[in-house]
Amino acid sequence: MFMSKDLSQEEILELYRREDPEELYRRAEHLTRQNFGEEVFLRALVEFTNYCSCDCHYCGISRSNLGVNRYRLDEETLMSVIEKGLEKGMNTFVLQGGEDPKWPAKRIAKLVKEIRLRFGNEFALTLSCGLKSKEEYALMKEAGANRYLMRFETSDPELFKQYTGGKSLERRLQGLRDLHDMGWEVGSGYMTGLPGETEEIRINNALLCQQLGLHMLGIGPFIPHPDTPLKDAEQQPLEWALKGTALLRLLLPKANIPATTAAGTLDPRGREQMLQAGANVLMPNITPVVHKKDYLLYPGKICLDESGFECVGCLTLRCEGIDRELSFKRGDSPSFTGV
Ligand code: SF4
Repeated sequence: MFMSKDLSQEEILELYRREDPEELYRRAEHLTRQNFGEEVFLRALVEFTNYCSCDCHYCGISRSNLGVNRYRLDEETLMSVIEKGLEKGMNTFVLQGGEDPKWPAKRIAKLVKEIRLRFGNEFALTLSCGLKSKEEYALMKEAGANRYLMRFETSDPELFKQYTGGKSLERRLQGLRDLHDMGWEVGSGYMTGLPGETEEIRINNALLCQQLGLHMLGIGPFIPHPDTPLKDAEQQPLEWALKGTALLRLLLPKANIPATTAAGTLDPRGREQMLQAGANVLMPNITPVVHKKDYLLYPGKICLDESGFECVGCLTLRCEGIDRELSFKRGDSPSFTGV
């Protein structure tokens, strides 16, 4: 019987550094099943605006990319997407967008309040809309949002500064700490394969997740977008993200970890491989199909022509294929105690 509590941090890192990752994956999957059984939690993703005032060099919808067809979903559209999701039995919705000045925290809070008034408090509402002030996080939480996602992307302050047009990693980490202190269920994560990233940085990325005490962890391979400054970067192997997933699982046994769409883009079985390396969440994208193709953080994104509601059947089969079961439960992280 393998449990990460049997392993010290040093032993976990020794496993991670081995040339053959099979034992690492095996232990990570075993631990996932111990903590979550066969269940793979479903999160419905809604990409509500692709406007962004930031200019991250790795991102396909950054401000400087003038080739993007920009859109914003209005309140009524969002309501009807959520209503449909609820009818289909979904219990977690992730509202994700760029840092859009036309969707300030005040407007998001108003939307959240309206969603709660209309549909109740049973399901989880996750926000992923960038760095805000403490007052703004408080406003959105009081309105009824439960979870907040904000990736730090790299733990290296210099790389972070370089690829975000001079922004401060510390400021973003402070935002994550603020969210944590305020009682949000907090998620973050990073990419693997950014140019200039070293093995040491990848390990530090995972250790930083542990230090931050995150409840949700997202990790995905960096895929160079042709309309960004990093267009000529080399595509690194999916294995880096798989090993990172397993490392995160061993370091944070009770966190929710999605098998990311980017992994499915690099390999048709990328999401299954992630689930077999420690992930326990899948995120179908229920954004109206007409807009899905305009939210391309990276090229080649899969499932753009299907409604996320159709994806559920496919994801069910994918889970069954690896002896797991798609779960519609709300699935709070067992490490989240709430405040
Ligand atoms: S990564 Fe996020 S913050 Fe940066 S440009 Fe893209 S959407 Fe905006």
